[in-house]
Amino acid sequence: MKRQLINVSNRLPVTLNPEIKKSSGGLVAALEGFAREDFALRWIGWPGGTMDDPHEQHRIDRILRKENHCIPVFLTEQQARGHYEGLSNSSIWPLLHYMPTYFRYEPEWWPEYVAANELFARKVLEVATPDDLVWVHDYHLMLLPMLLRQRMPTLRIGFFLHTPFPSYEVFRCHPQRNELIEGVLGADLVGFHTFGYLRHFRSAVLRLLGIESDITTIRHHSRHTQLNVYPIGINAARFAEVLKGEEFAAHLKQLNETYHDQKVILSVERLDYTKGILRRLEAIDRFLSAAPDVDRIKFIFVSVPSREGVEQYQELREEISRQIGRLNGRYATLNNSPIHFIHGSVQFPQLCALYARADVGLVTPLIDGMNLVAKEYVACQGEHAGGPAGGGVLILSEFAGAAEELFNALIVNPYDPGAVANAIRDALAMDQRERASRMAPMRQRVLRMDARTWAGSFIGDLAKQEPAVEPHRQIEEAIERVRGALSGGGRVAMFLDYDGTLREIVRDPDAATPTAPIIELLERLCAMPNLDVTIISGRSETDLQAFLGRFPLGLIAEHGAAIRPSHDNEWQRLDRNISYAWKEEILRLLRLYEQSTPGSQIENKRTSLVWHYRNADPEFGAWKAGHLASELASLLANDPVQIRHGRKIVEITPSHINKGAAVMQMIDRHAYDLILCAGDDQTDESMYRLELEHLLTIKVGDRQTQAQYRLPSPAAFRAFLQRCITP
Ligand code: UDP
Repeated sequence: MKRQLINVSNRLPVTLNPEIKKSSGGLVAALEGFAREDFALRWIGWPGGTMDDPHEQHRIDRILRKENHCIPVFLTEQQARGHYEGLSNSSIWPLLHYMPTYFRYEPEWWPEYVAANELFARKVLEVATPDDLVWVHDYHLMLLPMLLRQRMPTLRIGFFLHTPFPSYEVFRCHPQRNELIEGVLGADLVGFHTFGYLRHFRSAVLRLLGIESDITTIRHHSRHTQLNVYPIGINAARFAEVLKGEEFAAHLKQLNETYHDQKVILSVERLDYTKGILRRLEAIDRFLSAAPDVDRIKFIFVSVPSREGVEQYQELREEISRQIGRLNGRYATLNNSPIHFIHGSVQFPQLCALYARADVGLVTPLIDGMNLVAKEYVACQGEHAGGPAGGGVLILSEFAGAAEELFNALIVNPYDPGAVANAIRDALAMDQRERASRMAPMRQRVLRMDARTWAGSFIGDLAKQEPAVEPHRQIEEAIERVRGALSGGGRVAMFLDYDGTLREIVRDPDAATPTAPIIELLERLCAMPNLDVTIISGRSETDLQAFLGRFPLGLIAEHGAAIRPSHDNEWQRLDRNISYAWKEEILRLLRLYEQSTPGSQIENKRTSLVWHYRNADPEFGAWKAGHLASELASLLANDPVQIRHGRKIVEITPSHINKGAAVMQMIDRHAYDLILCAGDDQTDESMYRLELEHLLTIKVGDRQTQAQYRLPSPAAFRAFLQRCITP
């Protein structure tokens, strides 16, 4: 049986009104063409509208599954309002498009968004098997990848964002910004139209979740999410077919008759505030005010009604009508009124004829994920009689994703009405040779890199992703090893790092006292007769004594500079012969870094110096830390010290002191059947490298490590310890 490719988007590619009609969008064509060969294709989505009668739902469900490979998700009216019109289109959409002034938020929308994503997840899991591919589309379903990952970890999950992803400074306005980003990170592969959007997404992941990444890989919870750029294309085959047809030819003929002595400037879009319609009208006003012969100019606007349930769209529509009325009133002559505004959609062959006839395609969104209209205009230029010889001219906003590919267009800043007016003037005056030389390469690209190529490369990359390993199975083996040693009467030693391993890291290190579950766990560990537990930390003796002194635990402070055995209350210093002459000069240097890096601070320990940058801007802090580490390396080249660039710290310690050496010191006198070492940062690696026969090493977190096992978080590590000592 073929693997399934389960495509999940908010809307199904069918409409019910009331009969079932298949939609012919690019995505449908792309996926159907592609999947037929390699995958069994299924669609999951909302059929639109509301249908509360369970019998009717059942009937539609049966037909859609059987005839269209579609599985409908029925939303109640309240769900549709909260999830679709509310949270998705009134809160996420404006932020994704850099328009916080349009942002609206009602607290009751969020539970509907969560519930709708849950509903979609349930439908996917009804049909999915662990080896399938799931492709989730767009901002309506940002929680879905994580919901699926949690319930079926081996699924290959892709997420594609069809809109821009904005700067973190804008995205952070959303009250649920963290949940939304975390949801997307459930995917193995996340696709964007441009590298700019990808870059902003990474920055949001860093700044909101503190997860670092390289250019295309985010490592988190021992998994990877791959990021890449896939600019969507048009349904080229459908255009090619219609452009050969009679219906198209008839429409084009008619348009040529109607506008035989006029230049046609065409704009096509959904009526949306992102499309820059009002700004465009300002530019048209400027252009018309200087145009020598207004009678020979016709602007055609096709404005497809959109999101009419959202108040701001109604207001926008009224304002556009007012402005068009004003301009037509001002520039109309007896023979012509310059703007023809269609508030509605047109049939596809007619749309193609409009594209083909237009001398200028005027596409000036204030921001747009891609903008397919620009590509469609280009696809309809050039080869047929009736359109402008050599092709028309595309005027394209630099804020549309498409501008990266269609760089031969006249690229404009839509916020600058003078520049757009000049571009219209220049486009109308452009000679045939220049028009053809600009249009031909764009056309080639648009026809070659179509929706099929787009879907093919995304799915190809998704299929190549390694299935997420189940860390679960491995860690079971570690638990068995510890349990085996304990129950067999052997002696076990545990060396446990504190911050980030046993205890969650918090912003203020002084606040990281042991919590109730940690206290309870330590008490249980200490009560085990054949188990010796030592907490091994970079913290000072004072901190460890204050946090943990009352437990009969071994304590190792400052990475091994001081030891307090479990049976003793005295600290022993292991660094008596070590010189700290370097500290003074280094402290002066660290002060300079502290001053010039807001949020950073110095910790002056007895045996070491630490520069902390956890509270600094993550990128600036990391950059300064890199500089500091290399400056220290050259300053201290001849001193017996080591420089560690650890988790949000740069630390300078004497080279003889490290956790590995301290562990060796502690176990010297005992013969252990198992030695467990666990930690979360680079300072713990010296323990994992010890050449001991019965060593079991665990890394908490997602960084590179030499440890044998890995757990995602302190909570998971505590659960692991609980299970080790629970027979
Ligand atoms: N479109 C349509 N009917 C019309 C006018 C336009 O279906 O009457 C289509 C157009 O062909 C294009 C889509 O609407 O494929 C608009 O896509 P675009 O990427 O430009 O903008 P979006 O609406 O996704 O923001």
